[in-house]
Amino acid sequence: MSETTGDARIRGAVEVLLSEIGEDPAREGLARTPERVARSLRFLTSGYGRDIDDVLNNARFSVNCTEMVFVRNIDFYSLCEHHLLPFFGKCHVAYVPRDKVVGLSKIPRIVDVFSRRLQVQERLTNQIAEVIHEKLDPLGVGVVLEATHLCMVMRGVEKQNSFAMTSAMLGSFREDGRTRMEFLNLLNRRGERAAAAEPLDAAVGGCLAAAGDR
Ligand SMILES: [Zn+2]
Repeated sequence: MSETTGDARIRGAVEVLLSEIGEDPAREGLARTPERVARSLRFLTSGYGRDIDDVLNNARFSVNCTEMVFVRNIDFYSLCEHHLLPFFGKCHVAYVPRDKVVGLSKIPRIVDVFSRRLQVQERLTNQIAEVIHEKLDPLGVGVVLEATHLCMVMRGVEKQNSFAMTSAMLGSFREDGRTRMEFLNLLNRRGERAAAAEPLDAAVGGCLAAAGDR
């Protein structure tokens, strides 16, 4: 199916949605809404079309140090796959290189590739960790995501659990307590939001592990 046909079908679907919720798709304010929704949806899900090797292209460098690389407070925006509503927050990535590093600016782009899809927070966390593990072959990698889920906040469901943290630890971050502690200590040196947050690995609420739907 060509992009154009696909976009036309999205526009048609949005028109149906507007009618079904009791709106008039023909009224002035909504006339171009289906087109805008189609365009924004394409952008918000553009991660499906991205190849991680293109993103990393020419940005991997050989090193002979094994100090931890830590990139924190990467903004990310994603859509929960259960409600198509945003969840968003901060992503923190650390890895201990074996012999390769990637340009620091590439880490947020890796996050974008996986966040611009329909997601659940745990899978997003794991995919970021796994792709770094696969592409850089580091000694270990750790990823922590903290996010607010609008599907919880806006619908008034379990408001207290609408903020969630997830983590993925691979290699030395999983096997070596000292590496993991170094990462967690760096993470905790952050300011009041982290201090007030749930302990790591305490994934709570939201679309996290939501087996069914509410
Ligand atoms: Zn949701």
